[in-house]
Amino acid sequence: MKRNSLNPWRMALEQLDSVAGRIGLDPGIHKILQHPKRQLIVSIPVRMDNGDTQVFTGFRVQHNVTRGPAKGGIRYHPDVTLDEMKALAMLMTWKCAVVGIPYGGAKGGIICDPPELSSGEVERLTRRYVSEIISFIGPEKDIPAPDVNTNPQIMAWIMDTFSMDRGYSVPGVVTGKPTSIGGSLGRNTATARGVMYCIFNIAKKLGFDPLTQGYVIQGYGNVGGNLAHLLNQQGCKIIAVGDAEGGIYNKKGLEPDKVSEAMRESGSVIGFTDAERITNQELLALDCDVLVPAALENQITEQNADKVKTKVIVEAANGPTTPEASGILEDRGIFVVPDILANAGGAIVSYFEWVQGIQFYFWSEREVNLKLRDIMTHAFETVFNLSSEHKVSMRTAAYMLAVEKVAEAIKVRGLYP
Ligand code: NAD
Repeated sequence: MKRNSLNPWRMALEQLDSVAGRIGLDPGIHKILQHPKRQLIVSIPVRMDNGDTQVFTGFRVQHNVTRGPAKGGIRYHPDVTLDEMKALAMLMTWKCAVVGIPYGGAKGGIICDPPELSSGEVERLTRRYVSEIISFIGPEKDIPAPDVNTNPQIMAWIMDTFSMDRGYSVPGVVTGKPTSIGGSLGRNTATARGVMYCIFNIAKKLGFDPLTQGYVIQGYGNVGGNLAHLLNQQGCKIIAVGDAEGGIYNKKGLEPDKVSEAMRESGSVIGFTDAERITNQELLALDCDVLVPAALENQITEQNADKVKTKVIVEAANGPTTPEASGILEDRGIFVVPDILANAGGAIVSYFEWVQGIQFYFWSEREVNLKLRDIMTHAFETVFNLSSEHKVSMRTAAYMLAVEKVAEAIKVRGLYP
């Protein structure tokens, strides 16, 4: 069990409770939202390459499905816990509501250490996990997607296992698939692209030129790595990036193509030698204009929030800032775009992928990106205006909007029976 103050489920509940008070949430609806709809814990026996059998623990949590089927990623990580899954599932409920896509929230994960597993072991682990949760997922029920340490190949195995069970191809069961089996163009970079649109929207509101700023990105995976490339293509200067092994810094700017090449060769961004080696804590404390945490949760805490030296934080990761740190950042006048808005691009293009999969009618990448930009910009404007109107942070405004939307859906549907 994680320390109580950093327990993700406690923090998610505190966030809900504080917004409930602010918007005068109906007490009955508040109670419903404090409880995930469904929590599955499954044991996953896997034949390892050496012939031994190992049993892994997996989870799938569906927080709320009033606005539509559950949607949420699947994470493979040694630190996965049920409380983390519950918190991330709740976060997905809010995220889908904030950007107005017709889904509820879910999250899944397996306690495992992917670098220690062969590709064959990951495939067998994935297929058995899917077979253990198969009655609870499907295009109308719950649609998984990639998250930390899961990727399009793993999504393909999920789609294949589900389809084998049904006896026909079901592309709508999962998003983030390879395009050869119904994945959407633009999905792989969608979360990063959404973060970039947020940065450009803030720049307009706060009156700075995004092309002349210094960017720091923590995490160089799907979100952080793609963001570095997209920002660089626009002409922005990335001064530091980091991953689980540490960070690299060059105030003249890093070239993401070269960093990625070094990472492919050495397994980490620290393999890139034309930069100063720094620790992850030093990376978060660098003097910069825009800081993007794009790794794991609880990276900015009350221990380091007063050391952060940036104008703007855009939360690409889920839950990177603890509530205590959030308060410190707000008092220090640092503008924070909260995770449920900033990283919603992946969920939005997942929605596009699901729609395309159900219709078997596929869109161009340009169409996907334009629709993504429209939805992100509209959501950003709505949250920004709400935060100005009520004189609250973007995080509080985003939660107010999300909880009100979900509450309205619960109210209008009524309580069964
Ligand atoms: P990923 O596995 O592709 O990359 C994670 C990155 O974080 C890697 O570079 C890893 O080395 C780094 N990292 C891990 N532990 C670290 C640590 N202790 N310190 C510094 N760096 C560390 O995962 P991803 O898909 O890029 O997801 C990153 C974050 O974004 C997660 O919080 C995830 O929930 C969130 N997110 C992802 C998506 C998506 O579409 N992939 C969508 C929304 C939110």
